[in-house]
Amino acid sequence: VFHAGFDPAGQVVRVRFERGARRDLGQEMDALGVSRALILTTPQQVAQGQEIVQSLGDRAAGLFSGAAMHTPVEVTEEAMAEIRASRADCTIAIGGGSTIGLGKAIAYRTNLPQIVLPTTYAGSEATPVLGQTENGVKTTLKSPGVQPEVVVYDADLIATLPVDLTVTSALNAMAHSVEGLYARDASRLSSALALEGIRAFAEGLPRVIAAPTDVVAREETLFGAWLCGTVLAQVGMALHHKLCHTLGGTLNLPHAETHAIVLPHTTAFNEFVAGDRLRPVADLLGSDTAGGGLFDLAEKLGAPLALKSLGVSESDLDRVAELAVQNSYWNPRAFERDAVRALLQDAYEGKRP
Ligand code: NAD
Repeated sequence: VFHAGFDPAGQVVRVRFERGARRDLGQEMDALGVSRALILTTPQQVAQGQEIVQSLGDRAAGLFSGAAMHTPVEVTEEAMAEIRASRADCTIAIGGGSTIGLGKAIAYRTNLPQIVLPTTYAGSEATPVLGQTENGVKTTLKSPGVQPEVVVYDADLIATLPVDLTVTSALNAMAHSVEGLYARDASRLSSALALEGIRAFAEGLPRVIAAPTDVVAREETLFGAWLCGTVLAQVGMALHHKLCHTLGGTLNLPHAETHAIVLPHTTAFNEFVAGDRLRPVADLLGSDTAGGGLFDLAEKLGAPLALKSLGVSESDLDRVAELAVQNSYWNPRAFERDAVRALLQDAYEGKRP
């Protein structure tokens, strides 16, 4: 058990990192002073939700299994009706960023406390950020009230994550640490967490791919996710995250895959000026450069490498490049439209940077 004071809102988050901890949720509810939990899942993870319902007995107020990508407001409203009907006084989200996003959306509307059990490496559990979609438009808000109070990392739950999503989700997590290393507000602590997170993935991921149910290797990668998620919550992100947000939002691309494809290119672009900060990443990956090392890792593990494989067209790239430079934000290397367009072309073709 770890009490992380890392959340920027100054809130203390209770983190449990332990196999089997999913069976002790009653204890976590007692500590929060709550007694009726609505369990949240996607349609694909109902079985994992049912296991929790059974273990909680009459403390389970029900199971809502409609969580969906990008937190659509219509789904949140359905879940809100369930909250009212079941008189739940907390939520337990078991899933990836989509399910955790639903729990955050409910907390935003009700202030109900959240217990979350992450089953991907995306890192949403670590942040007070909520993205929601209404009428096809995705907006993001930051509010201390959406930060989950309790995070339970149980490696048994991540052992079922399909291999393709395991690889892309891991690269999504590593992206938090890569950007954390060159962040303007990076500290010795955040950089140490970032490098340890990348190390955990570089070491654990090949073992997980060789044996997806090897829970010891899974636990190593889940530890990486905890570290990388903490970095995401600690320091500001730059070009990579903004570009993936624009790509995902404009072209409705899958989240983890988009991060996985773009990361080697944004890393190589920023390495040009932040080479000293990224040198340890190249070393950990056994490569000459961080961008090249991330590309080789993605290729070796069978991740998608080209935006065109996600159905993106070259004309889409023009639009995304325009949008990406509309609002200025800090990045270690200055960039304008043509530089972003060239970077996107490489990502589109899947060229090694
Ligand atoms: P996801 O939650 O959409 O999951 C993808 C699919 O994998 C779903 O069908 C899910 O049910 C399934 N799945 C997840 N874990 C599984 C497991 N262990 N076994 C079997 N199936 C499993 O994917 P994601 O990449 O984790 O989350 C993406 C979403 O999270 C995006 O909308 C993104 O914007 C958001 N996100 C938000 C933040 C934040 O700080 N607010 C951070 C990261 C991601």
